[in-house]
This record gives sequence, C-alpha cells and structure tokens, in this order.
Amino acid sequence: MRYFDSVKYLAGRTLQYRFKIIITSIIIILLFGMVNFWFSMKVMSGIRSYVGGESLWSKSQKDAVNYLVKYSSSHDQADYDHYLIFIKVSKGDRQAREELNKSNPNITIVKEGFIQGGNSPKDVNDLIFLYKWFRHVSYMESAIKIWAAADGEIDNLTALGNQIHEEVAGSSPTEQTLQNVYAANSRLTVLENDFSSTLGDGSRGIAMTLMAITLFMTCLLGALAVTSAVLIAKATVRLDRAKTEFVSLASHQLRTPLTAINWYAESLLASNKPKRLPKQQKQLEELYGASQRASRLVSDLLSVSRLDLGTYQTEIKSTDVNIILNTILKDLEATIKKKSLQISKKTDKHIPKIKLDSRLLTVVLENLISNSIKYTPERGKITISLSIKKSRLIVNISDTGIGIPKSQQAHIFEKLYRADNAKEMEAHNTGLGLYVCKAMVDRMGGSITFESVENKGTDFHVKIPVIVEGRSHGKYGTKSKG
Ligand code: ADP
Repeated sequence: MRYFDSVKYLAGRTLQYRFKIIITSIIIILLFGMVNFWFSMKVMSGIRSYVGGESLWSKSQKDAVNYLVKYSSSHDQADYDHYLIFIKVSKGDRQAREELNKSNPNITIVKEGFIQGGNSPKDVNDLIFLYKWFRHVSYMESAIKIWAAADGEIDNLTALGNQIHEEVAGSSPTEQTLQNVYAANSRLTVLENDFSSTLGDGSRGIAMTLMAITLFMTCLLGALAVTSAVLIAKATVRLDRAKTEFVSLASHQLRTPLTAINWYAESLLASNKPKRLPKQQKQLEELYGASQRASRLVSDLLSVSRLDLGTYQTEIKSTDVNIILNTILKDLEATIKKKSLQISKKTDKHIPKIKLDSRLLTVVLENLISNSIKYTPERGKITISLSIKKSRLIVNISDTGIGIPKSQQAHIFEKLYRADNAKEMEAHNTGLGLYVCKAMVDRMGGSITFESVENKGTDFHVKIPVIVEGRSHGKYGTKSKG
C-alpha cells in the first residue's frame, strides 16, 4: 500500500481503530523488548554455565591424572578409586553432549549427564537451551568440536588407566605408559585452554550479535511506531479537514434559505395585515425567533470552519464603528423590546473612522451583545461603551444578567462550552459564540477578557489595535445616548 493510500485508508477508519493500531504497535514493541531481554539473559546465563562447567571438567580431569600417577607409584587402591571418581565427571558431560546431538534427545538423560558432570541443577536448563539454540553458531560449533576431541582424549586416558591398573596388578606400570598419560594430559590442557578461549570469544560475539539484533529491531519497530503515528495523525487531520469543509459547505448553503425565512417572518411581523389570531401571532414570533437562532448558528459554524480551515481572508478597510453598533442593535431590537431591557450606549459622538476588518468586528460585537441580551433577565440593564485610546479600539459590554459561575469561568472560551446556569436559561444555544469571538479578536491582534459574578452580571472587555483615520490619537470623551 502506498503512503498516500495508507493515509486515505486510515482516514476512512474510526478513531478506535486508529488507537488500536497505535496500542498494538506499542504492545509489539514491549513484547519484543521482553522476549529479547529474556533471550539475552538465557544466552548469557548459558555461557556462564558452560564456562563454570568447563572449569569443573578441567579440574576433575587434572585430579584424575594426579590420582592415576600417584596410584602408579603407591599401588594404593584408594588412589585408583579416586581416579575413577574424577574421570567419571567428564563422562557425565559427554553423556549430555551425545544425547543432545540426537534428533530427539531424551532430556532426562541429558540432565543426569550434566549433573554427573558436577553442574548445578539450576544451570542445567540454561546449558541445554544454549546447546540447542546455538550448536550451529560458529563459536559454539568450534567449542563443541574441541569438547568432542577432549572426550576422545578422555577415552585414551581411560584406556591408560585400565592399563596401569593391570600393570600394577602384575608388577609396576612401565615408564612408557606413564609418558603416554603425561602426553594425554598435555593434549587435554591445550584442548581445555582452546575450549575456554573459544567460549570467551563466543560470549563476546553472541553479546555483540544480540546487541545488533536488539538495536536493529528497536529501530525497525520504532520506525514502524513513528510511521503509524504519523499516518494516523495525517489521516486525522485529513478527516478533520473533510468534516470542517463539509460544515463550511453546509452552512454556506443554509445561509440563503435562512435569510429568506428571516426576512419574510420579519416583514410578516411588521405588518398586521391580514389580521392574525393571537395563536397565529405567537407562532409567527416563534418562527422568527427560531430562524434568528438558526441564522446565528449557521454564521457561527461558518466562522468556526473558516478559522479552522485557515481560509479566512482578512480585509482591512475604513470602518465606522458607530454604524456597526447601531446596525447590530437594530437587528436585535425586537428581542430587546420583548424583554424590556434597558440599553445604555456610551460612545464618543465624533469617534473617527478606523481601519480594521469590519466583518470580524461585527461578529465579535454581535456575539457579545446578543449574549448580554440572552443572559439578562427581563427589565435588566446592558451598557455598551466604545472608545479609542492610544490607537486601540476599546469595547466594554456589561450586563446585569445571570453571570458566569466562578468555577466555570476558565472554560468559557472553549469550543461548545456552556455554563450550567446558561443551559438552564437558554436551552437552544451552542457554545460557539465566545470561541469565535476569541479567535477573531486574536486574529485582529487584540485581547478579550471578562469579569463576572453569578446572579449579578458580566462585563466583557475587548481591546483591538486599529489605525485611526485622519486624526492624531487624542483622548476621546464619552457621551451617554441613553
Ligand atoms: P452560547 O451563548 O451559544 O451558549 P457562547 O460561546 O456565546 O455560547 O457563550 C459561552 C457561554 O458563556 C454561555 O453558554 C454562557 O454560559 C457564558 N456567557 C457568555 N456571555 C455571557 C453573559 N453575558 N452572561 C452570562 N453568561 C455568559
């Protein structure tokens, strides 16, 4: 599957499926780490057991030779018996080796052999493990060959032992027999040294091989995990973008019919011809209210999707903030009247034109003012002030509404977040407005803050850097317009 196909494939999967892929990769890496650790430990422990076994083997072989030489002069049966005990040790290891070479070894015979060879029963499993897994690996193969050659020399020594035993029974062992024992002993010393150094080289070689395998597998699995994480992240972004594009398209398509519904509902409400029954009047008002809410939702969704997609194009132009404010208030007039709210507008009478993106400012003011209206009970008071200070447009909107509970204030700018008291008061809202406001104010390089006390009211403060047209930036007084 090509890279882009993989992204496409993952984009079509559920979030759970994508998580499963990440979790599975992590589990595979962990399992591999554990198996690798266990395997390395077994191998190292096996090597250590063979090194220990070899020194026992050599010591017994030397003791056997010493007792045999001693016996040849003492003729004491006890010395010969000691010789027999020590020579038996190497025969135990041989039994294990020869059994392990069979295609279907009898593990009981192998274990008996190693224990007879003086190995600790705790090491026997590691000795078997290493033999089985590494007998065809070069170092181990050489060590096993040396071991077999040494067993051949032990056969030789055994024959010499028998010969000495017979010669002692007659008179005395010949000088030649003793020379043969010394020669076999010297050859065994060489073989024992070779065995030790081959095992030493082997343990270093195996350690390096294990390290290389670990490194390679870790890199491979790490790359696999990173690639799947990147693929999943890309697929998620792609999916999110597709969703946002869909929302953007759907909102755009909904805007036109909603404008028509709004416009017709408004003009029907404005005229009382033909005369309507009270029930019809109420239904019309509800229709108008619902279409207003739907329009707000659609415009919020459109703004959110444009911001999320990064397709919003800023348009700086000369703007009269008073006109914007008055238009917004006019649009909200019906609701203001219905709730008998007292609106106090404090703006500079001669506020100059400023340069900024008027669409952004309109969305911010619309959202903040309509929130104040929504969340202020009947006969409450809303104060809106606009001023320009030091090339900054300063907007304050305060109300005597339900306020925002202190514990929920930290989340208020989050997408879709709504405080509990707001949900109780106005069930049909989305929690998108303040998210949009914040994103837009940020885009204009400004700041938005608020203070609120539950059941007392809320003050929103917006500061936006602007270019003031045709005047030096003085201090502007305010005038109440009631
Ligand atoms: P919505 O009004 O659709 O719920 P907003 O994003 O505009 O969403 O506001 C988020 C939340 O902030 C509201 O649900 C409400 O809890 C709180 N809020 C905003 N403005 C006010 C206000 N003027 N008075 C009280 N609460 C407010």
